[in-house]
Amino acid sequence: MSIEQNYQNILSQLPQNVKLVAVSKTNPAEKIKEVYDFGQRAFGENKVQELLEKQPVLPNDIEWHLIGHLQTNKVKYIAGFIAMIESIDSEKLLKEVDKEAAKNNRKIKVLLQVKIAKEDTKFGLTTDEAKDIFNQYLEGDFPNIEINGLMGMASFVDNETQIREEFSVLKNLFDELSQLKLLETLSMGMSGDFPIAIGSGSNSVRVGSAIFGERNY
Ligand SMILES: *Cc1c(COP(=O)(O)O)cnc(C)c1O
Repeated sequence: MSIEQNYQNILSQLPQNVKLVAVSKTNPAEKIKEVYDFGQRAFGENKVQELLEKQPVLPNDIEWHLIGHLQTNKVKYIAGFIAMIESIDSEKLLKEVDKEAAKNNRKIKVLLQVKIAKEDTKFGLTTDEAKDIFNQYLEGDFPNIEINGLMGMASFVDNETQIREEFSVLKNLFDELSQLKLLETLSMGMSGDFPIAIGSGSNSVRVGSAIFGERNY
């Protein structure tokens, strides 16, 4: 299938309330421009260096999402233009984003990345750490960021029940925190598991290879 067919095929599977972040990592700017021309505006990248190469040569109404582990010393390079940092995995990182947002006279939207996969050691906060950070935020810490929601990745397994259980942990946390202050974005689901994620309450999916084709790394 062509990229356009892939893209339309994914769109056709998303309910109206679910946002698509097209994960363009490893794909060249020309391919991103193709998908942009189909109407897509939100793109996800996981490496600062790669993002900094693509951002200047692509239309400036693209809404860039950072979805990968972010080192604190690299925040300054993206703070001026990033639409959302989905991968806040430590308090230290959040502090740095807050500081750089202030320098750029803007508020930066972020998601707290929570570790929900049982199997491996992906980056992410524990649910307790996420709650703790959110409470500090409610008390007025981090005035230059907006905690807009939560992000999580399920285990890479075939077991649907396990995937569903992992997503439900994040959905429950999302509902719990939303009682304190309404959260907007629950980012769960990738090419292999986005239908399950949507069934579990996701309203933002991060889909890469199902649009752009398999990555070879
Ligand atoms: C690469 C990546 C995706 C997209 O993965 P696909 O399987 O290609 O859809 C989503 N989220 C994160 C955090 C990623 O690193």
